[in-house]
Amino acid sequence: MTDAIATFPDPETVLSRLPALVVGHRDAARLSVDGEITSLKFNEAARALTDEAHLVCNLPLITRKLRLNVGQTAASFDLLELFAFVRPARFTLPTIFGLAQSLSLAHPLTSDPIDEVAILGTLARCLLADLSADTYRWHKGVAATAMAMARAGWPWGPVVLGALGPRAERSGGLAAWQGLPEWEDGAPPPPPSDHSVSENEASQRLASLLGDGSEARPAQAQYSRSATHAFHPRTAQNAPNLALAEAGTGTGKTLGYIAPASLWAQKNGGPVWLSTYTKALQRQIDQELARLYPDPKERAAKTVIRKGRENYACLLNVEEAARISFAGAAGTRDAVLMGLVLRWLSHTRDGDMVGGDFPSWLGSYFGRARLGALTDHRGECLYSACAHYRRCFIERVVRKTRRAELVVANHALVMTQAASRKGDPDLPRRLVFDEGHHVFDAADSAFSAHLSGAEGAELRRWLRGRETATKGRARGLSSRVEDLLTDDDVAMGHLRDALEAARLLPGPGWLGRLTTDSPRGPYEQFLGHIRAQIFSRVSDARGPHGLECGTESPSPDLLKAADILARAMTALSQPLTALAKRLIALLDEEADSLDSASRGRLDATARALSLRSDMVRAWGTMLADLKRTPDPAFVDWFALDRMDGREVDAGLYRHWLDPTKPFADTVLEPAHGVLVTSATLLDQRTAMEDEDWSRAETRVGASHLVLPAKRFSLSSPFDYAANTRILVVNDLRKGDVTQLAAAYRALFLAANGGALGLFTAIARLRAVHGKIMGPLEQAGLPLYAQHIDPIETGTLVDMFRAEEQACLLGTDAVRDGVDVPGSSLRLIVFDRVPWPRPTLLHKARRAAFGGALYDDMLTRLKLSQAFGRLVRRAGDRGIFVLLDAQTPSRLLSAFPDGPTPERVGLAKAIDMTRDFFNTAPSPENPER
Ligand code: SF4
Repeated sequence: MTDAIATFPDPETVLSRLPALVVGHRDAARLSVDGEITSLKFNEAARALTDEAHLVCNLPLITRKLRLNVGQTAASFDLLELFAFVRPARFTLPTIFGLAQSLSLAHPLTSDPIDEVAILGTLARCLLADLSADTYRWHKGVAATAMAMARAGWPWGPVVLGALGPRAERSGGLAAWQGLPEWEDGAPPPPPSDHSVSENEASQRLASLLGDGSEARPAQAQYSRSATHAFHPRTAQNAPNLALAEAGTGTGKTLGYIAPASLWAQKNGGPVWLSTYTKALQRQIDQELARLYPDPKERAAKTVIRKGRENYACLLNVEEAARISFAGAAGTRDAVLMGLVLRWLSHTRDGDMVGGDFPSWLGSYFGRARLGALTDHRGECLYSACAHYRRCFIERVVRKTRRAELVVANHALVMTQAASRKGDPDLPRRLVFDEGHHVFDAADSAFSAHLSGAEGAELRRWLRGRETATKGRARGLSSRVEDLLTDDDVAMGHLRDALEAARLLPGPGWLGRLTTDSPRGPYEQFLGHIRAQIFSRVSDARGPHGLECGTESPSPDLLKAADILARAMTALSQPLTALAKRLIALLDEEADSLDSASRGRLDATARALSLRSDMVRAWGTMLADLKRTPDPAFVDWFALDRMDGREVDAGLYRHWLDPTKPFADTVLEPAHGVLVTSATLLDQRTAMEDEDWSRAETRVGASHLVLPAKRFSLSSPFDYAANTRILVVNDLRKGDVTQLAAAYRALFLAANGGALGLFTAIARLRAVHGKIMGPLEQAGLPLYAQHIDPIETGTLVDMFRAEEQACLLGTDAVRDGVDVPGSSLRLIVFDRVPWPRPTLLHKARRAAFGGALYDDMLTRLKLSQAFGRLVRRAGDRGIFVLLDAQTPSRLLSAFPDGPTPERVGLAKAIDMTRDFFNTAPSPENPER
C-alpha cells in the first residue's frame, strides 16, 4: 500500500488545477484556476461541465438544472461525495450553505452563485485536512475503501489517498460489516407489573424534566396529569384505559406524555411505545428524550427508535452488492455508491438507511431502488442461517426493543405488528399515538388488501426467488428454509406444492404483457379483464392519472376469470398454511434439539408464511365476493395505477369502510392503556361539545370500545390574534395558472421569502414553479420544490429551515412533515381549498359518515393542520393565505380563535403581507 500511496498526487496540486462551478436557478458562476469568476448562462455552464472536470456541490441537482445526464459530464469532483466519505454518518444539508455550516466555515449568506463559487475550494481543503489530521475520528476502513473507489474511477479517490498519506495502512479492510459489534441475547424480560402513575408523580417528573427555573406552563402540567389515565391498571379484559387529548400547538405535549410514560415504564419494568406518523416528530421525540436521559449511554440503553425491517441495512445484501460493485464489471457510480455506503456502515448509530444517520440525499444520487435493494425490503432474511446474523442491525434493534423503557415507533409499524402477531404477549400494552389525527389514514393503509399485479409478483418472488438472470440476491423460500426441513418429508411436500402453485402468480415481465394484452396464467388474465372493464366504464381514459371503476355488474368474462383465479388462490393458500403449521409443530416436536437460533428462524418463517397465506385467502374471498352481495363493511373497486401517464399496476382493491374497526380490534382492545393525542383532534369547538368529541372518537376508533374514553382539550398558549393573519384572496380566476403563479410570486416576494407554498395538485405545483423560480432567484430567494428537486422531502424541509429567505413548494407530505419554528416559515400560501379527492373509496365513506358534513370536516382538519405549521413557538409570527375565492365561510372555523379571516383582493393581500413583515420594495425585490 505504501508504494501505491506514494504515487498519489498532492491534494493541493489537484485542487489548484480544478475550476469550480455553481449553478443557481437562472445562471451559473465559474471560478477559473487563475482565480477569475465569470457568470455563465446555463448552456455555457453545461458545455463547461461536459468539457472539463470541475469542483461542484450536488452534481445531480446541477445536471437537472442544466438538463444533462450525470453520465454526460466530465468526471466531476463533488463535495457532497467527499463529505459523505470523510465524515460518514454525519449530517449535512446537500447545499454549499449546508456544507459550510457542517464544517463551521463562513458562508457568504446569499445564494448568488458568484458569491458561493469562491468558497468551494475552502470546503474541499477543510475536508481533506480532516483526513490528514492526527485527531481524525472516522478512520475505520478509510484507505481500503478509498483505494477500491479510486480503482473504480472515483475522481476523489487518489486525492483522498494522497491526503491520508502513510497512515492509510492502519485503517483496516474493505469488509465494513466485519468490524461491527455483535449483539448478545439475554433471558426474556418478565411481564410488566401494574403499578399506577399518579397525577402528582407525573407533575413531579415533568418538573424534573423541565429543570429548575423553567417557565411555568400550567397547560402542560395539566396535560401530564390528565395523561396518567392511560397509565392506570386495566379494570376489564378488552377495555383499555383510553385517553384522547387535544393539545394546541405550544402546549408542550411531548414532554407532557414522556413524564407519565417514563414513570410507568420504570415502575413496572415494561416498555411504553410512542408512535408518530411523521419522521419529523420522531426526530423531535428523540431529542426530547435527552432531557430524560442526559447521559448518552443510558439513553442508548433505555430508548430505541424502532422502524420496519425495510428501513435497515441488510448486511448480507450490502456484502453481495459490494462484491458486485467492486468486481470491475460494474460502473464507477455503483462503486462510488458502495464505497460511501461502506463508510457509513462502519460508523452508523443503528443501521437505519431511511431517516437515520444515512445521508438521505444519496438516494437522489444513485436512485432509491438501488438503496432499497441494500435493505431487507422484501422479507428475504435468512435469520440464523445468515453469516451476519449476530451483527445484523435488525436483530440488534429487535433485541434492544425488548429491553427498552421507551420505544419510538410509527403508526404503520405498530399496526402491522399487532395484525401479524395477534395474541403475542410481547406486543406493547401501553401506547401513545402522537399525531393522532393520522390514525385513520394509517389504519386505512395497514388493514387493506390489494390483489394487484405488483403484489402478486412480489409474492411470487418471495416464494420462488428471482427467475431472471440479473445480478443480486433474491433467493426463494426453499433456499431460506430447506436446510431446516430436509429430514421432514411432510414439510418438504408442502414446500414443493407452494412453489408449484406460485407459478400462477404474475411472473417476470407481467406488466409488459398486461399492457400489450398478452397475459399469461390466471392471475395476469384476471388483471387483463380488470383493465378492460376499467377502460370500458370510465368516461375519459386520457390523462396522466390513475383510473378506477366499481366492482358492480362485472362482465361474465371477468367473473369467469375470477373463478379460475380463486381456485388458484386456494391451491396456493393451502400449502402455505400447511407449511406454516408444520413449522410450528416442529418447534414443539424438536424443542429439545433445536438451538435458539434455529428456533428463531423457524418461528419467523412460520409467521411470515401465515401472514402470506392469510393474504392469499383474503384475495380468494375478494374474488368470490365479486358475484355476491358485497359486505357493507368493505369498499371494493378496480383500479389502474398510472405514473405520468404510464401504467404501473392494476388490481382489485379492498379497504375497510371504517378502518378504525380493525384498529380497535387488533391494537386498542388488547392494550391496557392508550393515549391518542394531537393538536387537531377536534374538528370544531361548538356548543355541542359531546358531538364534537364523538366525531373525533369515530376518527380514532374510540367509539368501538366498551369503555368510554377520557377526553381533554387544552388550548394553545399562543396569541394568534396578535401574531397571525388569515387572508382569503377573492379576485383570482380559478384555473388560470398564470394568475396563480403571479400571486405566489408576489406574496413570496412581499414576505421576502420564508414562504411555504402548498398545492392540492402536483401539476399545478410544477406549473407555478416554472413561472416563479426566475423572479425569486433574481430577488435572492432560494426556491425548493417537492416533486421537482431530486431531493428527499425531509431534506428539502431541512434546507428550507436552514435558510431564512428560502421558499418551499409541496403537497400533502410537506404539509404534514414541516416543523419549522422561527422566522424561516412566516408565510403559508395554499392554492385551493383542500377538498377530499373524489375517489370511490371516499364516495362510500362520505355516504356512511355524514355526506357533505364529512367533506367539510376533513377539509377543515386539513386547513387547521396546515395553519398549525405557521406558529411553532412563542414569538413566531405569520400569515396564512388561501388563494381560492370560492372558499365557503363554514370552513373558516378551522382556524383557531383570534385572527378573523379576511376576504381581500390580491393587491391588498400583498400590501398586508408587506406591512405585516415591515418589508420595503427594493430594485431586486420590487414587491417588497
Ligand atoms: S440476518 Fe437477515 S436482515 Fe440481517 S443481515 Fe442477515 S439476511 Fe440481512
